[in-house]
Amino acid sequence: MTTASLWVPTGDEMNVLVLAKIHPDGVALLREKCDVEVKTGLSEEEIVQEIREFNAVIVRSKPAITQKIIDAGVNLRVIGRAGVGLDNVDVKYAESKGITVVNTPGASTESVAEHVFALLLSKARDIPRADRAMREGRWIKKELMGTELKGKTFGIIGFGRIGSRLGEIAAAFGMKVLAYDVIDISERAREVGAEVCTMDSVLNQSDFITLHVPLLPSTRNLISEKEIEKMKPEAVIINTARGGVVDEKALHKALSENRIHAALDVFEEEPPTGSPLLTMDNIVFTPHIAGSTEEAQERAGTEIAQKVVEALTQ
Ligand code: NAD
Repeated sequence: MTTASLWVPTGDEMNVLVLAKIHPDGVALLREKCDVEVKTGLSEEEIVQEIREFNAVIVRSKPAITQKIIDAGVNLRVIGRAGVGLDNVDVKYAESKGITVVNTPGASTESVAEHVFALLLSKARDIPRADRAMREGRWIKKELMGTELKGKTFGIIGFGRIGSRLGEIAAAFGMKVLAYDVIDISERAREVGAEVCTMDSVLNQSDFITLHVPLLPSTRNLISEKEIEKMKPEAVIINTARGGVVDEKALHKALSENRIHAALDVFEEEPPTGSPLLTMDNIVFTPHIAGSTEEAQERAGTEIAQKVVEALTQ
């Protein structure tokens, strides 16, 4: 018989199974209060085998915490997701079993907001193309005429944590800031100096449009052919929210017709292998790294450790 099968819970254990690489400071915080095992790269079946004696489990965007794992987790009280999206956790099922699900939605706000400006400046000054040409020995100074940001209109769709932080950054660049959301954002907009307006006004008036909505049935293809038609022909659309918020077929059509520009960090399928967008000129890509900074990872790791311990001791 194995030790695991002899183990009988007393109800006040704090055993945590960490299933993804989280920041070492987070693991250290957990170890101050709990027994911690870090096991990454496990399959669903392996997690099912392991989970019985643990009271909490921590994941990032992977692995998935499925019904099967939850059923096997007879002592499970807390599921922690270091990061924002809970797409990989069956939250409804977990909560129906009395398991608390916690995440760290604000940990990457600053990183994502700064990455939007990295993309925006790349587009405004065509830095990726300049870099490629230099490496190929081409000095294309005359082809690279940029645009200043000061005085331009910056449209934000989804004025939550990231969207409203971007309003502050855009205002510091001397941009006019327009904001649209489905909830009342008047107070935060006043603080930031943004003008609250309709989605159509954001689309019609903005030189740069950035998306910060969650992926929901109501936001799937939020930007499609009809919305693109309303944009200024030279507008730049930036998506660091979720693939699926922008209709990639419609975007490809617009780019093929030399209308609008784009910058994408997220894709309908990741990686977007074989996507026709990858062959287009007037678009800049990054591989879903908007939240990937040392600081965001550290924040996510320590916050999730604190939240898991807090939930276990409640
Ligand atoms: P948040 O919840 O603080 O804000 C989202 C806002 O969108 C809310 O104010 C909500 O009312 C609004 N909204 C919902 N539906 C809308 C609609 N149809 N039209 C307009 N507004 C709508 O979220 P956040 O922390 O700002 O994050 C925003 C997005 O960024 C999320 O989808 C998140 O998954 C994504 N994200 C991406 C990365 C990355 O690495 N690329 C990292 C972190 C977060």
